[in-house]
Amino acid sequence: MINYGKHNINDDDVSAVVDVLQHHFLTQGSKVPEFEKALCDYTQASYCTAVNSGTSGLHVACMALEIGVGDIVWTSPNSFAASANCALYCGASIDFVDIDPHTRNMSVDALKDKLLKAQQQGQLPKALVLVHFSGEPCDMQAISQLCKPYNIAIIEDAAHALGAYYHNKPIGACQYSDITVLSFHPVKSITTAEGGAVLCNNAQLAQKCVLFAKHGITRSDELMQHEYADETQGPWYYQQLVLGYNYRLSDLQAALGISQLKRIDEFMHQRRHIAKRYLEKLNDLPLALPSLQMLEASSWHLFMVEVKTHERKHVYEKLHAQGIAVNVHYIPIHLHPFYQQLGFKKGDFPAAEKFYDNALTLPIYVGLDDTQQDYIINTLKSILA
Ligand SMILES: *Cc1c(COP(=O)(O)O)cnc(C)c1O
Repeated sequence: MINYGKHNINDDDVSAVVDVLQHHFLTQGSKVPEFEKALCDYTQASYCTAVNSGTSGLHVACMALEIGVGDIVWTSPNSFAASANCALYCGASIDFVDIDPHTRNMSVDALKDKLLKAQQQGQLPKALVLVHFSGEPCDMQAISQLCKPYNIAIIEDAAHALGAYYHNKPIGACQYSDITVLSFHPVKSITTAEGGAVLCNNAQLAQKCVLFAKHGITRSDELMQHEYADETQGPWYYQQLVLGYNYRLSDLQAALGISQLKRIDEFMHQRRHIAKRYLEKLNDLPLALPSLQMLEASSWHLFMVEVKTHERKHVYEKLHAQGIAVNVHYIPIHLHPFYQQLGFKKGDFPAAEKFYDNALTLPIYVGLDDTQQDYIINTLKSILA
């Protein structure tokens, strides 16, 4: 079976993990800070907190921005549920902004309209969670301009987008956002098995991210509330300041991450090579393809097509029968039973629903070779003939 996505582990990755097992702390050692530093160097962000998943990272981001009961968060319906769940973890409510059918990212026009209405009704969101779907960056500048007058915070859910570029800066630089969240799940740009990171450029916000990801506990003299300490305290002393979580990444995972990040340029090169060949060779088929203009900017986490002349389910099943495990991204978040029980319903976000009806995720990952890709292309051609 050729899967839609897959990790790529080499001998260096294995040695890096084994080295930690044999010679270092398994957690809370030197590998996590080293990985955080490497992520800052690569993304140009000033601060990084490694966490144990992208989902934890989104939760930490919401807590650091003080999102809570009575607040509203908006995200894209065309995403993984975690993009919306993070607001609900904090007691806030969630709403969605429909997608642009071409980029499949949050529509700037729809956002503009929804902001105007929300302002009139006194229902403005406190934050947006922007998803760079498939690795194609959202129009960050336009969105941040719309949000500025209302003081709305911006979280980038960049789970797909490590390795992508926007305005000549790496995604993660937080040029137009408050916080960027990465995921290192095995199908993402690099992997730590499970893992994630929270990036930002603001020292105070970074401090809060660390606090919420580590039990709300600090040993920093600067942060401690000295009115609660007395002369009996010694060097062992620490304080819990807020209700935090144990969202730490382990040093085993960080070592894998450091090793993987060294290869990201090669990973992106290979993903772009595959994307370029799909764009060339699928061009005359009855499929809507991603934009060639995004070839260099996107990190090509997913290669999405829309089936125009056949039933998507038929194409999906035929490909699976031929050993090609295509997938579908995403079931719009608002259509899951949990979200329908919150009051969302079919028809609420028609562009995301229409995209979902025809979407098909073709295999793209580091290690998918030209011969395998040609097999996928030729099989698709014969199905659509
Ligand atoms: C993978 C993913 C997440 C969650 O990341 P995990 O590391 O799996 O918790 C969040 N948002 C999007 C868009 C994702 O694809």
